[in-house]
Amino acid sequence: MRVYLDHNATTPVRTEVREAMLPFLGESWGNPASPHWFGQKALRAVDVARSEVAALIGARPQEIVFTGGGTEADNLALFGFLSTCDGARHRLVTTTIEHPAILEAARELELSGVAVQRIGVDSDGCVDPQEALQALGDDVALISVMLANNDVGSLQPLEEIAKGARARCVGVHTDAVQAVGRIPVDVEALGVDLLSLSAHKLGGPQGVGALYVRAGTRIKPRSLGGAQESSLRAGSLNVPGIVGFGRACALTKSELMLAGSHMITLRNRLERGIFERVPGVFRNGHATKRLPNTVNLGFEGVDGESLLMMLDVLGVATSNGSACTAGSGAPSHVLLAMGLDHARAASTLRFSLGIGTTQEEIDIAVDAVVKAVGTLREVRS
Ligand code: PLP
Repeated sequence: MRVYLDHNATTPVRTEVREAMLPFLGESWGNPASPHWFGQKALRAVDVARSEVAALIGARPQEIVFTGGGTEADNLALFGFLSTCDGARHRLVTTTIEHPAILEAARELELSGVAVQRIGVDSDGCVDPQEALQALGDDVALISVMLANNDVGSLQPLEEIAKGARARCVGVHTDAVQAVGRIPVDVEALGVDLLSLSAHKLGGPQGVGALYVRAGTRIKPRSLGGAQESSLRAGSLNVPGIVGFGRACALTKSELMLAGSHMITLRNRLERGIFERVPGVFRNGHATKRLPNTVNLGFEGVDGESLLMMLDVLGVATSNGSACTAGSGAPSHVLLAMGLDHARAASTLRFSLGIGTTQEEIDIAVDAVVKAVGTLREVRS
């Protein structure tokens, strides 16, 4: 039996999602931009999906721009917003714990002359809202702070940051790729102008996502061509992917509360099981202000990469960083930003649960961790 505890990397496509997608890989293959019967059939399905995605985050359907995933949504938000700001407001404020989709986009903007300020986090991986607001001078155009961190799960004080930012006329973007589908997310309650989400973190297919763009927010497209997506994202739509994304959002909306408490119960069981049976373990990330599905643990004297490989051999899939940097050998920039030294950061492992995770799987994982850590420590001594 294989146990999958890497849902922050990607989630299995849900059966209902696959079934909803299949007709659009078969008989319903029209292009939604076409005015004829075939095209209009596809367009109707895209419209339903747009409403389903919007409903999950409290947005209006016309505020959803479909993209090729979370990375593209993040890029569109940053480049698209900042390229409209050529006046007094031109700076970007972000954080040191963002996903590479933001970090690399910010670096590129910096190379093109945009001043970027990156604010740090405390030892729990949380941004101090006061520090964030202090960074918002008269020349700041946009602040981008993720809603939940992918490595340690820590939740960021977005509401407070957005409230202060709006009072200072600063645009607010949040990368909510890990948050949407795991905790309730409402764009009105958060007060954000732009929000990125991705289908494959909530039981949808890979390669499709969306950017929420609050009505009235000015952004420019990144890809140029046709007038799709209100001229904000040119290119024929990925209809099967979008339909699957919509279905995943609709399912998630109806299950969110139950799924959240299910994952918290199992996450606590996993943490307790490991703490009780393995000495020299420390947790990374906020104890309570954290995604319900994420546990990041450090194992003193153990190399996280070796532990990951040994657990994989034992049939348990985990991660020691975001999927985009995993395998690079470099410890997570998030853990380093939280103040961990190199050795402690390199001893960590991320377990991320899904709605389908069972108690039996958690117990198997705990046994495997006990065995793997014991073996690695034995080899070392
Ligand atoms: N932002 C965060 C916080 C993520 O965790 C990820 C993926 O892991 C992304 C963005 C990128 O999303 P996608 O894989 O859909 O491009």
